[in-house]
Amino acid sequence: MSFRFELQKTDGSARAGLIHTDHGVVETPVFLPIGTQGTVKSIEPRELEEIGAQIVLGNTYHLSLRPGEEILRKAGGLHRFVGWKKPILTDSGGFQIFSLEGLRDVSEEGVRFQSHIDGSPQFFSPERVIDLERAIGADIMMVLDECTPNPCAYEYATESVERTLRWAERCKTHFLERPPEYEHAQALFGIGQGSTYKDLREQCLGKLVEMGFAGYAIGGLAVGETANEMYDITEFCAERLPSEKPRYLMGVGTPENLLESIDRGCDMFDCVLPTRNGRNGMAFTSRGKVTLKNSIFKEDFRPLDPGCSCYTCQNFGRAYLRYLFQAKEILGMQLLTLHNLSFYLSFMRSARGAIIEARFASWKNATLARLHAEPVDQHD
Ligand SMILES: [Zn+2]
Repeated sequence: MSFRFELQKTDGSARAGLIHTDHGVVETPVFLPIGTQGTVKSIEPRELEEIGAQIVLGNTYHLSLRPGEEILRKAGGLHRFVGWKKPILTDSGGFQIFSLEGLRDVSEEGVRFQSHIDGSPQFFSPERVIDLERAIGADIMMVLDECTPNPCAYEYATESVERTLRWAERCKTHFLERPPEYEHAQALFGIGQGSTYKDLREQCLGKLVEMGFAGYAIGGLAVGETANEMYDITEFCAERLPSEKPRYLMGVGTPENLLESIDRGCDMFDCVLPTRNGRNGMAFTSRGKVTLKNSIFKEDFRPLDPGCSCYTCQNFGRAYLRYLFQAKEILGMQLLTLHNLSFYLSFMRSARGAIIEARFASWKNATLARLHAEPVDQHD
C-alpha cells in the first residue's frame, strides 16, 4: 500500500508531477471533477474515464448524511459503491458545515449542526471526520478545518487558525491510530487557513508542515476576495510549502484562475464551475464563455468550440444545444457538462505538457490571449 508524490519537472514556479496511489497514478497539474454526493452530476463514470478524469472529489459531510457510513462500509467503500476504480479525494465537510449559518455550534470539541436533509442533530469532531473518511475509503482524505468567510476580522481569523491547527493535530493523531478499512492506502492532507492575512497564513502552514502531512491544501480562498488577492495569497502560501509534497488549491476556479495558480506552483484544483455552469447552459471554451440562451445561437450550427475533440463538439451544434436547454431536455445538461469537463481536463493536460516542455510562460500568454479575445459570437 502506498501513496507518493513525484515532482517531475518545474518551469518557473509551475510544476508537473505524479501522485501515486493504489488506485492509479494522477498526473499533475490536475483538475478534480466534483462528485459531492458520489456522482458527478449528469455524467456517467464511463464518460468521465473517456474524457480523461483521473481523480474525483467526494464530500464527507454529504456522504455521511446520505447514504451514511454503514452502507458505505457494507458496499466495501465509496469506490465500489459508485463504480469508480480510479482515485478519490474526500473533502472533510468543514466548508459545508461552516456554510450552514445559524444551524451550527462550534466548540473546541467539534461542530454541532443540523442535517440539511432532515434537520437531525449531527456532530463532527476531527476524530469523527477521520472515522467517516476511513469508512468512505478515499485515497486522499482532508482534515477537518474551519473555513472563514470573507471579509473576516483579524481576531476571528486568528482564533480560527489556532483551532484549525489543534484540529489538524487531532486528525493526524486519530488517522495514525485508526488503520484503513479496505485494501488500499489512504493519505491525509492538511489545510492551511488564515483568510487574507499573510502572518496567519505563514503561521498556519509552518505548523502544518511541522506536523507533517502527505500533502497540503490552501483553503479559504475563492470566497469573495478579489482575484488579485487570491493570487497574492496563493503565491505566498505555495512558496512556504515543501516542494516534495502536492499542493492543492481548494475551490478554484475559472480557466484563468487555474492558469495563474499553476503558474504560482499549485498542483491540484477542484471547482463546481464546469459542472454547475454546464447544467445552467453555460460553456467554457478556448475563446471564453458561451451562454447558450443567447438568441444569436438560434441558427448557429457550428460546434461549441471548434478546437474541442469531445463527443459534444464532434456531434452537435450550438443551435441544437440551445434548443435542448430551451426544451428543458436532460440531454442538454449532459452534453454541456461533458464538454465543460472535457475542456477543463484537456486544458490541464496542455498546461502539464507545456511545463514538461519548458514553455509554460509562452503557452500561458497565448492561452490567456485567446480566452480574453472578444467573443465575436456573443453579441446579441
Ligand atoms: Zn467540446
